[in-house]
Amino acid sequence: MQLVLATHNQHKVAEVGAILASSVEELELIGYDGPEPVEDGTSFLENAMIKARAAFEFTGQPSIADDSGLAVEILGGAPGIFSARWSGTRDNVTNRQLVLAQLQDVKPEHRAASFVCTIAYVDAENEISFTGIWPGRIAPTEQGEHGFGYDPIFIPDGFEVTAAELEPEVKNSMSHRALALEQLASYLQAIS
Ligand code: IMP
Repeated sequence: MQLVLATHNQHKVAEVGAILASSVEELELIGYDGPEPVEDGTSFLENAMIKARAAFEFTGQPSIADDSGLAVEILGGAPGIFSARWSGTRDNVTNRQLVLAQLQDVKPEHRAASFVCTIAYVDAENEISFTGIWPGRIAPTEQGEHGFGYDPIFIPDGFEVTAAELEPEVKNSMSHRALALEQLASYLQAIS
């Protein structure tokens, strides 16, 4: 089956395509080159749906889209859907520094946070979503060089190091994105 991924990022298409191809037979994931919709949803689910619907309407092919971010408990779930531009810029360093500053005097036991990834799937008959949650806590300082975004300040449950200190294969086997993709893969297997 051919599936459209609502992103202009070819790196993401290759990465997600490789993960899905390992569990869904004869799946070809293709990028989307249509107009980008306004992401004005109020949740990961709404934003993922907006993107998947736009790709389906433009291409007429089954389409998926993801939306993800960091949810810090003591900040009421923020940065949440605003993760990519939390400090008002797309600069990852500034965004991380802002979260660390907001948690400056917060004790380790109150620094709970999760990475969340929602993937929406849309075709002519179905609209469905899958959410993966990777629980952990915010580190006192930045550590590690791998990964991207908030990885250097996120310590996953069961570890004493940040996601940016884990080997990419380790992160990719257990992350919020991996968990959401696993559910999507089972669904695609069931309908194909
Ligand atoms: P998007 O879903 O690609 O728009 O990602 C939203 C933002 O959430 C990213 O720009 C990152 O700041 C953050 N984010 C999402 N997933 C991860 C992750 O696996 N590690 C670190 N940051 C993440």
